[in-house]
Amino acid sequence: MKNVVVLGGGFAGLAAAVKLTELGHSVTLVERRRQLGGRAFSFTDPTTGDTVDNGQHLFMKCYHATLALLQSLGAHDEVEFQNEFQIEFRHPQKGTSTLRIAKTLPRPLNVLAGFLRFKSIGLSDVLKLRNIKPELSKQLPLSLSVSQWLEQCKQTQRLQENFWNPLCLAALNEPTSQASARYMQAVLREGFFGSPDGAFLGYSRLGLSNLLSARSQTFLNKHEQKLLLGLSAKRIDSVSTHEIAVHLSDNTKLTPDAIICAIPPQALSSLLTPHSFPELLQKLSLYRPSPILSVNLWYDRPCLDVPFIGMLGTQMEWAFNKHHLYQTHDHASPGHITLLASAAHALSQSQPKDLIELAQQEFESVAPSASEANLQHARVICERKATQTLPLGESPPNTHTNHPKLLLAGDWVNTGLPATIESAVRSGFCAANSVDKK
Ligand SMILES: Cc1cc2nc3c(=O)[nH]c(=O)nc-3n(C[C@H](O)[C@H](O)[C@H](O)COP(=O)(O)OP(=O)(O)OC[C@H]3O[C@@H](n4cnc5c(N)ncnc54)[C@H](O)[C@@H]3O)c2cc1C
Repeated sequence: MKNVVVLGGGFAGLAAAVKLTELGHSVTLVERRRQLGGRAFSFTDPTTGDTVDNGQHLFMKCYHATLALLQSLGAHDEVEFQNEFQIEFRHPQKGTSTLRIAKTLPRPLNVLAGFLRFKSIGLSDVLKLRNIKPELSKQLPLSLSVSQWLEQCKQTQRLQENFWNPLCLAALNEPTSQASARYMQAVLREGFFGSPDGAFLGYSRLGLSNLLSARSQTFLNKHEQKLLLGLSAKRIDSVSTHEIAVHLSDNTKLTPDAIICAIPPQALSSLLTPHSFPELLQKLSLYRPSPILSVNLWYDRPCLDVPFIGMLGTQMEWAFNKHHLYQTHDHASPGHITLLASAAHALSQSQPKDLIELAQQEFESVAPSASEANLQHARVICERKATQTLPLGESPPNTHTNHPKLLLAGDWVNTGLPATIESAVRSGFCAANSVDKK
């Protein structure tokens, strides 16, 4: 049995802590905040009493590691998945167009048939989609952007506007010009061309903190692991190759058998001394944040008859019907709608009042029944560091550092995936397994 300190209680740190527990190790989890969950959390809106996520999170059926973690926590059944991949897109002028990939046809026929019925594109676009499949087995360079790759694959303007751009923003939280084609390739491989149900979307029927924080705490307490909430790591000392120490904000010093650092790049930078980890520090300095903006609107009545819609031709990209998603498992008023914009660099500079006006106007342009309803309350949440990415061509750090007892985890670590929940959980499992094997 090893004594392991895990720094950070987001998905990555929790995955590491749970896996280490299952492997029979002793864990001390240190989390700066008073609750677990990291960037995936919820709170109660004081005006309505509704549970509000810091931003709607979607899961995919191909998130195998995440689903295994939720299973360990007893939260697996709280994620509701579609029975088939289906997104209803609405455009203010062009109306509704549904992308539905039937599970009855063999792949890739079902994908092509689904696109043929997708009104936002035409037959000539669908034929170009066939250029993508052979690309999936190639080793694409990290320096190739999604937009350059789409050009190489001769994807039409219409396809880019109605499919690739929204997919890139949703899955990679970056516009196609900034995102690496390598990560888009990973999403396509695992989601659309892996297991038949890999792309099915799922959502939590509970606020994110009820899904993750409370259950993780119960799990760790039940297994008598040490949970230090409201304490931060202040410095890591690599005393020698045999010893590593971490100093905490209450002036205690821990000298475990291994430290798994599952905190964001900038937080990690501030813990490391330059002479011990020069290359890692240089890499960490290159990470740049990408924001996600949510506008919660409360109407006096239901305004959407489906769980969520994609929005085309608008700045807001998704609208989620919170009452429908929670299905009374958690608290959401019937008229609670969350609108979301990814990679919202420009929008996040606007005033909340203007954002509410924009979200209301755009939502009502695609959900006419909302124009007849009264808006009673609104709330804007801007997560400025929703995800962190490296410039094109830069490869992320691996789990192992140049100190054998210091390992890295987090959605930004090299997992081959974009910065997502699944990347965070895989990185946490990988770090825990590495500690176990040493
Ligand atoms: C609004 C929004 C929407 C998103 N939507 C999706 C989605 O639909 N699908 C998807 O897959 N992903 C989504 N993501 C991304 C997803 O939330 C992240 O990939 C994931 O939560 C990252 O987990 P993590 O453990 O790597 O990092 P974090 O969650 O950031 O956890 C790091 C933890 O470390 C703690 N910490 C920092 N410094 C210290 C210190 N010195 N000492 C101790 N603790 C410290 C922090 O408090 C934090 O709890 C979204 C993110 C946001 C913000």
